[in-house]
Amino acid sequence: MKIITDITEMQGFSLDRRAHGERIALVPTMGYLHDGHLSLLREGRKHGDVLVMSLFVNPMQFGPKEDLGRYPRDFERDRVLSESAGTDVLFCPDAALMYPASFRTAVEVAGLSDVLCGKTRPGHFRGVATVVLKLFNIVMPHTALFGEKDFQQLTIIKQMAEDLNMAVEIVGVPTVREPDGLAMSSRNTYLSEAQRAAAASISKGLRKAAAAFKEGEKDSASLMGIVRGEMASAGLREDYVDIVDERTLGTLPAASSHGRIVVAAYAGTTRLIDNISLKE
Ligand code: AMP
Repeated sequence: MKIITDITEMQGFSLDRRAHGERIALVPTMGYLHDGHLSLLREGRKHGDVLVMSLFVNPMQFGPKEDLGRYPRDFERDRVLSESAGTDVLFCPDAALMYPASFRTAVEVAGLSDVLCGKTRPGHFRGVATVVLKLFNIVMPHTALFGEKDFQQLTIIKQMAEDLNMAVEIVGVPTVREPDGLAMSSRNTYLSEAQRAAAASISKGLRKAAAAFKEGEKDSASLMGIVRGEMASAGLREDYVDIVDERTLGTLPAASSHGRIVVAAYAGTTRLIDNISLKE
């Protein structure tokens, strides 16, 4: 596996592979890899002759009071795991290289960025969209893969790619879960044992609500009540629970098969997100 830290070198590498007719697949990550990331890499292998994983903890997507400073990092572990999952190039630029003092531009995907997580984390998706566009311009992938766990992020990136006529295919990959259902996340390492046990109530509530929908319950408020009940009895504090249209992220008063139940909740100070599709 080749390790590239320089932006011009990464662009040169990709231009050369493209000139040889090879397809490039990109999996952007912030590192501290778990099985969710590895699933993206394995899927990415199928989409490209060259698999690039970016490892960049993007300062632009963290709010001033968020966990940028303490976000878990372990480069050596990530290097080994990434290589074993089939990565050809690990692109890990420095923040100073990605955001020089002269940096001014931002990408805003209006309407999708300011709802759900965007309400609690103002500016977060502007940071995400901007860094993803930068990574696309640097790595020049034919395909880029993102997890459904971060469903709002996936929706925003699909919209950005469509709106800006980007020649990249965006592929969503299903959420990888712990045996008790908790969606894998680098931030799960913040949880105490008790919080970790309580966190399983999120996916339990989502599964129960999706089952109720399949049995005929179409009222969004009732379905959301099921999720809220599970989380409250485990002692989690809700940030939001909503049932939204998968493309517009607009609230659906009546649940339908193109809807998705989306959740954010706090276990202590750790904010966790999850979602489930209502597709039949
Ligand atoms: P992160 O390192 O948290 O920025 O995540 C990098 C990529 O991995 C994003 O596309 C995430 O949506 C995806 N991802 C994170 N957790 C999971 C998971 N449990 N299952 C599948 N994909 C995930």
